[in-house]
Amino acid sequence: PAEQDPGAPHGYPGELVSVLIDQETVQAKVRELAAAVAADHTLDTPPLLVCVLKGAVMFTTDFARAMPIPSEMDFMAISSYGSATTSSGVVRILKDLNSDITDRRVVIVEDIIDSGLTLSWLLKNLQSRGPAAIDVVTLLRKPEAVKVPLEPRYVGFDIPTEFVVGYGLDYAERYRDLPFVGLLGAHMYA
Ligand code: 5GP
Ligand code: MG
Ligand code: MG
Repeated sequence: PAEQDPGAPHGYPGELVSVLIDQETVQAKVRELAAAVAADHTLDTPPLLVCVLKGAVMFTTDFARAMPIPSEMDFMAISSYGSATTSSGVVRILKDLNSDITDRRVVIVEDIIDSGLTLSWLLKNLQSRGPAAIDVVTLLRKPEAVKVPLEPRYVGFDIPTEFVVGYGLDYAERYRDLPFVGLLGAHMYA
């Protein structure tokens, strides 16, 4: 069965050690988060979903489709200097939003909060543009994140301090296409 080699059915035989959050569990959580965010908005002020590329792309598109209210979507690409598996907090904008967020209700859609450095920077940056409100929804959060003084309003799963891939999350640009969140085998790290 897939449990024995979760990567195999997706073209990554022998590369993953286990599934941390399976596809059904991910999708159920996306629906739950989408309902929670929708409940905090009114129909006349559709939220602007800000997808933080590239990791949050799967989550954002599933999230928008699961929301029982309309939303708009924009994309921002940022790069935080650091190694492949950690971030430094030094952030550079690779692609900025197309929309003006002044007086908009913004929902930042994040894949994962680890140190929280990337998100702190992003919040400060977007806050300076005068939005009506900014909330954060993140699918995953690691224990380190409790050290930063920013509490994302909506959190999908608290996971252990391990490097995960899948459902948008990559290692060297691979594994984003997996429909679940999994753990990479130690032998896959260069
Ligand atoms: P932070 O600034 O919170 O430490 O890191 C946030 C970013 O680092 C995420 O958006 C993601 O790109 C990357 N990251 C942090 N933890 C992981 C992980 O376990 N797996 C992957 N693939 N990326 C991670
Ligand atoms: Mg991210
Ligand atoms: Mg990455």
